[in-house]
Amino acid sequence: MSERSEGAATTGEPLLSVQGLRKHFPVVKGLLRRQVGAVRAVDGIGFDVVKGETLGLVGESGCGKTTTGRLITRLVEPTDGKIVFEGVDITHMSQGKLRPLRRDVQMIFQDPYSSLNPRHTVGAIVGAPFRIQGVATEQGTKKAVQEILELVGLNPEHYNRYPHEFSGGQRQRIGIARTLALRPKLIIADEPVSALDVSIQAQVVNLLEDLQRELDLTYVVIAHDLSVVRHISDRVAVMYLGKIVEIADRKSLYDSPMHPYTNALLSAVPIPDPKRRAERERIRLQGDVPSPLNPPPACRFHTRCWKAQEVCRTVEPPLETLASGHQVACHFPENAPASAGSAGAASATSGTVAPGAGSGPAAG
Ligand code: SF4
Repeated sequence: MSERSEGAATTGEPLLSVQGLRKHFPVVKGLLRRQVGAVRAVDGIGFDVVKGETLGLVGESGCGKTTTGRLITRLVEPTDGKIVFEGVDITHMSQGKLRPLRRDVQMIFQDPYSSLNPRHTVGAIVGAPFRIQGVATEQGTKKAVQEILELVGLNPEHYNRYPHEFSGGQRQRIGIARTLALRPKLIIADEPVSALDVSIQAQVVNLLEDLQRELDLTYVVIAHDLSVVRHISDRVAVMYLGKIVEIADRKSLYDSPMHPYTNALLSAVPIPDPKRRAERERIRLQGDVPSPLNPPPACRFHTRCWKAQEVCRTVEPPLETLASGHQVACHFPENAPASAGSAGAASATSGTVAPGAGSGPAAG
C-alpha cells in the first residue's frame, strides 16, 4: 500500500459542506414511551469536502463517525444543522427529490459479508441501482455491470455467481462495484477494509485510489485504523464523543498533532521500525469513553486528558482555525505556534499553563 502523494487538491469549491450538524437519538421509557434523554451521537460538527479530495474521519467506536456518514447520505434524519451538496441544501429534502441525489452520493458499507444479499447473483446486486433508478434496459444493465466488474478487478463472467462463491476481498469489490454503478460524485466509505484480512486491505485501498483517479471521485473515508486513513486521505478529521476535535491536512495531523486525543490515538499506531518503536512514548488514556447520553460538560475529553485544567471543565474550546489551516478544539494544544488563539485565551483565563506545557501523559 503506497502512501498518497502530498499536494493533492484540497482547495476550491466544496462538493459537500456540513454545518452545525447534530443527531440526537431520543431515549424513551415506559408504556407511554416518554422521552427521558437523548444520545448525542453527533453534536454540532462542520467540515467541507472539496471535489477530488479524500477526507478521513477517525475516532474510537461510538464517536459518531458512522452516524455522520449516514446523515450525509440521508439514511438518518438530522436533528439540526445543514448538509449542502453541490451548493444545494439537502438537509430536509423529501425522499422523492432526493432520488437523483442518490445517484451522486453512494455509500460503501463495512461488512462485505452481510451487505450483499446471499440470494441474489452478482449481476442482480450490482445492477440493482440501474433498476431502482430506471436508467437502463436489461441488456444495457448487463453490459454496464460487466464493465464495472472489470473496472474493480473482477471477471465479467462472475455475473451469474452468488456472493458465497467469493472471498472477503472479492465481496468488497462487488460492494464497490454496486456503489460505482451510477457513477457517483461522492462516496462515503464506512470502514471499507476493517472486515478484511490485512493482506487484502492494501488491495482494496489501492483499488479505491485507482478508481478515484480514473473516475474523478471524492471520498469521505470513515475508519478507526489510523494507518489506513494515513494512506488514503488528503485531510483528516478526528472525532471524539460526537464532536470534531481536530482537522488538518494529513501531513500536519500525523507529524504535528495538536489535540491531546489525536496524540494519544497516534501513539498507538504500530510502527514497523523496531528502533523508532522503542523510542516512541505510548500514551495510555485513563478511564472509559463517557456515555454520549450524558457527555462531560465543556471539553468532552477533560475526563481523560492529562492536561486538563479548570477552564477545560467550564469553557468549551471552539474549533479554531490557525493560519496554517490546521483546526483544533483545545485550550492547551500541543505543537502549538505561539499565536494559537484558544490556548492563549485559556492561559489568560486560568493563568496556569502555557500552550503545550501539560503535566505529561500516562506513558507505557
Ligand atoms: Fe480538553 Fe483541556 Fe485537554 Fe485540551 S487540554 S483536550 S481543552 S481537557
